[in-house]
Amino acid sequence: MNAPRAPLRPLDEALAELLAHAQVLEGTESVSTFEADGRVLAEDLVSALQVPPQDNSSMDGYAVRSAEIADEGVPLPVSQRIPAGSAALPLQPGTAARIFTGAPIPAGADAVVMQEDTEALDEQRVRILRVPETGQWIRRSGEDVRRGAVVLPKGERLSPAALGLAASIGMDRVSVARRPRVALFSTGDELVMPGEVSPQAMRPGAIYNSNRFFLRALLQRLGCEVSDLGIVPDDRQATLDALAKAAGGNDLILTSGGVSVGEEDHIKPAVQQLGRLDLWQIAMKPGKPFAYGRVGEAHFMGLPGNPVSSFVTFLLLVRPFLLKLQGATKLTPGVTLLPAHFELPRPDKRREFLRVRRDGDGGLELFGNQSSGVLTSTVWGDGLVDNPAGTTIARGDKVRFITLAELLA
Ligand code: AMP
Ligand code: MG
Repeated sequence: MNAPRAPLRPLDEALAELLAHAQVLEGTESVSTFEADGRVLAEDLVSALQVPPQDNSSMDGYAVRSAEIADEGVPLPVSQRIPAGSAALPLQPGTAARIFTGAPIPAGADAVVMQEDTEALDEQRVRILRVPETGQWIRRSGEDVRRGAVVLPKGERLSPAALGLAASIGMDRVSVARRPRVALFSTGDELVMPGEVSPQAMRPGAIYNSNRFFLRALLQRLGCEVSDLGIVPDDRQATLDALAKAAGGNDLILTSGGVSVGEEDHIKPAVQQLGRLDLWQIAMKPGKPFAYGRVGEAHFMGLPGNPVSSFVTFLLLVRPFLLKLQGATKLTPGVTLLPAHFELPRPDKRREFLRVRRDGDGGLELFGNQSSGVLTSTVWGDGLVDNPAGTTIARGDKVRFITLAELLA
């Protein structure tokens, strides 16, 4: 007799359990700021200077004392020329200083008149055509960053913009969490590799291993060091061997396929034999057969073989886990409410993640085939709708939208 089926774990509960298992990795690394894109800061970045360092001009024009210019049309002698990168002398009373964008404001000046509001009479004299307001076209010292400010906190995942900000306070290197080491393998006797077998030479029943490609790329984007163990056949001993090998020296073993209930699915019993399984089967669609456990010191995550299931479970479960290992503070994506420009009359019993994209009218369209084998949906789509279990969607209903751009960053 079959044992009664255990209830599927709610996704939020499963995620909370995974994150509780994800202790931040020990060890940090100092990397060049050029190489730090996507890494997670291991310490606060504190500014040792003001940015900009001094008051400077935001226009090409003339620096003046605004109180000296009561009327338009006043000609003034030009007493100095201040290009960007040079030092300025104090502004002589009754004169203007030729100044360029980014150049320091001379002491005594309190406004810049943009070039377009002046008429150069000759090299030595300029006519001011518009009465300036005090402070105009001056960028103030520290208006971007104040000395002593935390510009980027520990736990921040560095974006290209953040690298620029770090560089603006003089950081040529940053301290980041070390890269998680991840062993990856795909299971399935049907799998063949592009490049090894041509489309014409495919044997009946064979398919290309697509999961290996997006999983490796996703791991690399998350800062991981990947050991790719290739394809493991649907065989108990081969699975045990692969898991044992993957456990050595890795923080996480990530597998795809073979984690469902068929007798060709060897992952689950093999993990139970070598280590332990803490979690199996989640109330989500796609992605139900997800598994978590441990083999030796390594965490284990088994993703379903169906490509869309693999993709979605990676983004919603593996991604936050890997970010947590690196000490990141933001683990889960933002949600926006957007109107559905489609209908879902027959919802699933499980919480469902539908592949959708934004149309030109501020709403969402649904990809026609939501099968977990149809990888086209993940490229066509620019996001997922997080639809609660058993919830129908009528045209115009506000639904929970998560952008793929954020999940794939
Ligand atoms: P499984 O989870 O092993 O039962 O596989 C479920 C479905 O996903 C089957 O149709 C497999 O052929 C397919 N599949 C499994 N692994 C991969 C993979 N790496 N690339 C593409 N399809 C896969
Ligand atoms: Mg399989």
